[in-house]
Amino acid sequence: MAKKPKLTLQQKRQVSSNRTRRMASKRPTSELDDNQLGEQQAGKVIGRFGKHADVEDQLGVVHRCHMRRTIGSVVCGDNVLFRPGKDLTLNVAGVIVAVEDRKSVLTRPDYYDGVKPVAANIDQIIIVSSVIPSLSLNLIDRYLVASEDVEITPVILLNKVELLSDEEFKDVDKQLDIYRKIGYQIVYTSCKTLTGLEQLSSCLKDKTSVFVGQSGVGKSSLINALLPDANETIGDISDISGLGQHTTTSAKLLRFELGGELIDSPGVREFALWHLPIDRLTYNFKEFRDYLGGCKFRDCKHGNDPGCIIRKAVEDGEISAQRFDNYHKILSNMDELRPAHIKV
Ligand code: GDP
Repeated sequence: MAKKPKLTLQQKRQVSSNRTRRMASKRPTSELDDNQLGEQQAGKVIGRFGKHADVEDQLGVVHRCHMRRTIGSVVCGDNVLFRPGKDLTLNVAGVIVAVEDRKSVLTRPDYYDGVKPVAANIDQIIIVSSVIPSLSLNLIDRYLVASEDVEITPVILLNKVELLSDEEFKDVDKQLDIYRKIGYQIVYTSCKTLTGLEQLSSCLKDKTSVFVGQSGVGKSSLINALLPDANETIGDISDISGLGQHTTTSAKLLRFELGGELIDSPGVREFALWHLPIDRLTYNFKEFRDYLGGCKFRDCKHGNDPGCIIRKAVEDGEISAQRFDNYHKILSNMDELRPAHIKV
């Protein structure tokens, strides 16, 4: 009989990891037997709760599903292949077997994985700001950079505009003109007077959107105004007591009557700018792109460096001085944005 070959340490590790994987797949699971499942079909994830997901089939029927261990993460907005359960008395009857490639994904920093997806296939990010306590262009710029970085179109929404006098409104509109000039859409709304909701509805039509922005700016109020059945908790009290929307980690996909979808969850709302390498930050100021590579020095920091073409464009009035200033403010805070345990 042939002598058993001696395994190297690496081979031993491989054998052990293969065995663990094989055992994991044989372990009794809460997943369902083949004969309890119907034909594979396409669906969309419209809800995500702990270990389960709600998948809507092409007829609009919702199936609560397990997830095959092998398929990685499943998030709201994912297009999936799934097998519905035959036993309709079971709470969780189906199984998601595959996730289609995502055209876009929102992520957040995660302690274990570095980054964790929270929603998929999003067309636009509605950056919600309000005039109370004060309008922060720096914050808007941070969200714009974060949106550009995930390559999802941002829209700037300013809520609570009924609190502004005509004069103040004109002033704010002038400030926001810098964004209009570089191609960003701006929407003004008030949930109190219902101003701008029609414009917002047409902006959301036939697209998958998310609302992001600081707590208290009116995201829940806007969602309720657009979708009266959504029943979002309004006010900041829930954030403090922990009894409101922040107690659940689930995400849901809501449908607008006129067409279009909104994905909402605390994870989605908390989407924010976190650490980026400098060149990515610079690239995400989209009006800088045409100038990149044109500076005298390849490692130009776009500060006081001689021959900086971006600074020259600011001086010539081609790039907004306010945006340039915010770029440097964000740059100087970049390291603080990195969660301590995450290396880049
Ligand atoms: P969220 O934390 O972003 O979801 O904000 P909420 O929707 O919970 O709203 C926070 C507070 O702002 C609540 O007291 C709302 O009633 C108030 N609010 C929302 N929209 C408006 C608005 O258009 N005008 C005014 N004056 N207050 C608003």
